[in-house]
Amino acid sequence: MIDAKFLTIKLDEINSVPKVFYKGEEITNLVHVGIDWATGTDETVYGKPLIDIEYLEKDSFGVPHTVSIKHNRTIVCKECEGINVDINRLYAGANIYREIKECKDCGCKS
Ligand SMILES: [Zn+2]
Repeated sequence: MIDAKFLTIKLDEINSVPKVFYKGEEITNLVHVGIDWATGTDETVYGKPLIDIEYLEKDSFGVPHTVSIKHNRTIVCKECEGINVDINRLYAGANIYREIKECKDCGCKS
């Protein structure tokens, strides 16, 4: 699908699985879709959306892990105090068996 919009979330009914298009690409195997936007004024320019979308991808061994699309989410690295931290969750069936936080600035994992 070609769509110039940054993010499109479609919900057919209240209990439907959302359809998510990020920069024109449909994101499948969703496990979390979160968006939070607010402003304290009638000026919409100050709102800063917190976007957190997670989906499952399989690695070269077929093991599923989560991939995150996030904007303005602040997880602070314990080593360098940077905020460029990814969370990868490894699954055994539907259960999370390991969660790894990886800092994209200093490379530390926790
Ligand atoms: Zn770091």
